[in-house]
Amino acid sequence: MPLYEFRCPEGTTFEASFPMGQAPAELACAQCGEPAGRRISAPRLSVAGSAAFGLIDSTLRSAHEPEVVTGLPGRSRRPATRYTTHPLHQKLPRD
Ligand SMILES: [Zn+2]
Repeated sequence: MPLYEFRCPEGTTFEASFPMGQAPAELACAQCGEPAGRRISAPRLSVAGSAAFGLIDSTLRSAHEPEVVTGLPGRSRRPATRYTTHPLHQKLPRD
């Protein structure tokens, strides 16, 4: 559903989502209760669902939901695979 922007007489701007073509011309402001008129804003339909939109979304989300690191990078718990059977290679230091 598209997002519509409203602005009340006191200057509070807020957005609300309505089905296409069903947005009211006025909506009660959540702050003061006064009827807030619908504003004309730039549609963001061209970026919705695109890779750019996903990047913007994840960037905004990282501000309050950062990804949590739970371990050292590049280390797996899987035991090392044996690549060689040469006896001298067994004496080489392991990481
Ligand atoms: Zn208001």
